[in-house]
Amino acid sequence: MNFRSDNIAGASEKVLAALMDANGGTQPAYGTDELTKKVEKSLCEIFERDLAAFLVVNGTASNSLALSCAAPPWGAVLCHAESHIADDECGAPEFFTGGAKLLGLPGIACKLEPATVAAKLERMPPRSLRFSEPMALSITQATEAGTIYTCDEIAALTKVARSRGLAVHMDGARFANALVALGCTPAEMTWKAGVDILSFGATKNGCLAAEAVIFFDKAKATEMAIRRKRAGHTLSKGRFLAAQMLAYLDNGHWLDLASHANAAAEKLEEALLSLPGVRLGWPRQSNAVFAILPEVIDQRLRNANVSYHAWSPDWLPVKTRPSPGETLYRFVTSFRTSEAEIEALRTAGRPEPIASSGVRAKAG
Ligand SMILES: *Cc1c(COP(=O)(O)O)cnc(C)c1O
Repeated sequence: MNFRSDNIAGASEKVLAALMDANGGTQPAYGTDELTKKVEKSLCEIFERDLAAFLVVNGTASNSLALSCAAPPWGAVLCHAESHIADDECGAPEFFTGGAKLLGLPGIACKLEPATVAAKLERMPPRSLRFSEPMALSITQATEAGTIYTCDEIAALTKVARSRGLAVHMDGARFANALVALGCTPAEMTWKAGVDILSFGATKNGCLAAEAVIFFDKAKATEMAIRRKRAGHTLSKGRFLAAQMLAYLDNGHWLDLASHANAAAEKLEEALLSLPGVRLGWPRQSNAVFAILPEVIDQRLRNANVSYHAWSPDWLPVKTRPSPGETLYRFVTSFRTSEAEIEALRTAGRPEPIASSGVRAKAG
């Protein structure tokens, strides 16, 4: 029972089959093949507009290259303090931007508030030589805490960014999970709400290794082809990236996979809350459950080989902070999480039944 992340699952059968199909014949190299062209066309349809899309193999490259097109070395990128770009990418955004500064801001359950961003910008007057110049705002959807910004919340944030001329980047490593949870359109969750550049994740939700950097304003993408090549993310057999993404997008497959993961998280939430003393750190909104467990439950689960990560309590609301003997943990479900795994977790976490009859004791 592995709930450490959604990248512990393999790839969907449909994505794998598409790779086999793409294997035959010859194709032009370096992303000039027919499948890559089809990906861009398919994304244009899904996002209901003209756009420029660049395939890469992982989210770190996607985020870092996206930001390198939005912030010069002397620029600053405003983001949440616990965002993946600030906390999990080993300085890759700083490296690819050539030194732009990431400014981590606070926010409950990893969500930024417009007022927090506005206040930070106010403390950084334009053209002051004391600060890196704010150039971009990066938000994560779904967030690192599994929480979700509504389309109105995204629009409110991008409005603040826009008022200072900042570009807005969205880290969509779990884009599909957020989208199906909100039930809105991809356009509404992005460019219609003011997002300029999107890291469109696909790996965690069923690809082997494929993400797309999407520019809703093609004019902002002029450097991207060169930057991607220099970064070593222009694959000579680019058709294999495209084949994954096409199968992922085909016929709503990506949405089905995310719906499964979210539904599994809902069941997991219910199973965890059925265990004595377990409560949520914040509401579950996508495919991750952040639960505060008493030590005894944690021990039982670990003894039964259930795995999951301990999480930073920094962004918990004050009222849900763990008491001594309690810890915040993250449990993530994937497109492949089964009901059996969740039921096994529930059984493992239950208190031992008190042996009430000799028959039962012998059977045990
Ligand atoms: C997983 C993840 C990424 C991408 O990480 P890679 O390991 O580089 O593919 C980016 N952002 C968030 C929020 C993630 O959870």
